[in-house]
Amino acid sequence: MQVIQLRLFGDEPVPSADPPRFQESADDVFTRVYRQKAISARRKSRGVSAQVSFRPWANANGRISLHDDILHVHLSDLWRTAPPAVVESLAEILVSKLFRRPPAQEHSDRYREWVNTEEIHGEMVRLRRERGRKSFAHATGQCYDLDALFDRLNQEYFQGSLNRPRLGWSRAASASLLGHYDPPHHAIVLNRLLDKPEIPAAVVEFVLYHEMLHVLHPVELRGGRRHIHTRAFRIDEKRFAAYDEAKRYIRRRNWREF
Ligand SMILES: [Zn+2]
Repeated sequence: MQVIQLRLFGDEPVPSADPPRFQESADDVFTRVYRQKAISARRKSRGVSAQVSFRPWANANGRISLHDDILHVHLSDLWRTAPPAVVESLAEILVSKLFRRPPAQEHSDRYREWVNTEEIHGEMVRLRRERGRKSFAHATGQCYDLDALFDRLNQEYFQGSLNRPRLGWSRAASASLLGHYDPPHHAIVLNRLLDKPEIPAAVVEFVLYHEMLHVLHPVELRGGRRHIHTRAFRIDEKRFAAYDEAKRYIRRRNWREF
């Protein structure tokens, strides 16, 4: 079975409040779009019908798979109130992926525009806060104490002005993500892989400093896209005293940027 997921990195945004004039059900939209695409791909289309269900996800994701003539579509709750044109674009995107074709630009644009609206973005943040489980270990690790590091960095680089987030070490060691800042929970979590004696203090401090900059630099919305590491962010990042050393270490270990 081929399962295709549409996953947004982070999240995005916005919706028109126009009530639909006629309501084709989501099942009908996906069935129709699937059949059109199946015909042009010379695949079986007759007898295939879609079953759309909604899931309590705190994002705008969608998931599609074909199984014995049933096109199973799972959508985040956020899609319940999406305008028909946006649902149409979502169907185009997901079904195209199922056929391994790129979706038409207009559909990607419409999808992105909707997900980036204030309303939808705000709703995702709210859902994440309510449903997201924030589980991480105490700030005092085996080697490094994030509370103490935070205080020091806050004094040194922010004149003590940063509002203290919740700080902790991840419960699982991630192979790629060194740390992240979670705005809805106002929490900074560092990968517990970093809480080791062989990791130079400058590296741990730099990762924490980077996440602290996320508290200071909110994500910017421009042209329907979210800019997480803005130019101003990168300039501030270079103010870190051991910037070159920390960057070099992270690159050498092949860790993903964060
Ligand atoms: Zn970052």
